[in-house]
Amino acid sequence: MEKTVAVIRGDGIGPEIVEQALLVLNRVAELFGHKFRYTDVDMGGCAIDKYGDPLPPEMLNKCLASDSVLLGAVGGPKWNGVPGPLRPEKGLLRLRAGMGVYSNNRPAKIWPQLASASPLKQEIVDKGIDFLIVRELIGGIYFGRHETLTQQGEAVAVDELRYTEGEIRRIGRIGFETARKRGKKLCSVEKSNVLDSSRLWKKVMHELARDYPDVALSDMLVDNCAMQIVKDPSQFDVIVTENMFGDILSDEASMITGSIGMIPSSSLGDGSRGLYEPIHGSAPDIALKDLANPIGTILAAAMMLRFSFDMASEADCIEAAVSAVLDAGFRTGDIYTPGSCRVGCGEMGRLILTNLRKP
Ligand code: NAD
Repeated sequence: MEKTVAVIRGDGIGPEIVEQALLVLNRVAELFGHKFRYTDVDMGGCAIDKYGDPLPPEMLNKCLASDSVLLGAVGGPKWNGVPGPLRPEKGLLRLRAGMGVYSNNRPAKIWPQLASASPLKQEIVDKGIDFLIVRELIGGIYFGRHETLTQQGEAVAVDELRYTEGEIRRIGRIGFETARKRGKKLCSVEKSNVLDSSRLWKKVMHELARDYPDVALSDMLVDNCAMQIVKDPSQFDVIVTENMFGDILSDEASMITGSIGMIPSSSLGDGSRGLYEPIHGSAPDIALKDLANPIGTILAAAMMLRFSFDMASEADCIEAAVSAVLDAGFRTGDIYTPGSCRVGCGEMGRLILTNLRKP
């Protein structure tokens, strides 16, 4: 099979981790007889430096013309001073909106080899951590009206949180469908004791539940959910929530699994084209030092094969190679524990590459 992939290396550690993912994809292509054609796309700080825009229209068009998009990470202190609409992260928001990817899926699953890296007590980890957060990605407060004005001599900042019934229904369906394919438990997270948008969210979720009698729907307030994720994460199967709540809860969920460097995410809309990336940022503190963990990006590439290209065996093969390398005791600095063997970004990529085997 031949597929085109728009590749956004981005800033900070982005280029190093994406490089390792591409080497893995090329080896998978060799093993399984596929051809992946890559198109380089500039986005983020590097695009601001080159074009004065974090995502020039022609870069977005390259992504829209590809079968899927693989992203490292964008941003960094160099661009902290640039005005809001030109910040590197705005490029990412525009990419998500332009691709119409309204559903972000992030697994929170503990690798047995890394159980001791979780900051949770062992008895909590032993009950199992394996859930998925479905986050609405192109609505809510991040996409509402933002303004800072002066009223009675004082600065006032306003961020609008707005959801339409349709936006809630389409992400709700993804939540129910995802739960149906997993443990059939869906927890809808909102703040309906305070927010109108959350009351509408809850109403729509319960209307949808009638179409999914096989899925057990529960409601949880976001503040309680933040507590429950650290108290008893084993209770969750699939969580569905709005954009900002999902942003915060998914970072918390990633932390309890051991390392932010291990977790991939997929963002999908109505078609098969997706945006695949690790959940972490550009980690400027470790950029260009060969210290980054490339596994989150390599697993994001595996997710791309599974969800956008219908290549489940190929994805299994990558995940098995990652597991084999962890079994053998190799760790990047972020997941290192005494007794294991510390390796850099390039070496971790090379080890995964050499463990890729066609089943
Ligand atoms: P970060 O995720 O970049 O880093 C947080 C901490 O985790 C750092 O100590 C970093 O060294 C470590 N870390 C992250 N990824 C790692 C990896 N693969 N291997 C080993 N260690 C890793 O978050 P931050 O420091 O808050 O943000 C840095 C920049 O990234 C900011 O400009 C931010 O806006 C941007 N950012 C981008 C994205 C994205 O591109 N999707 C997401 C989040 C943050």
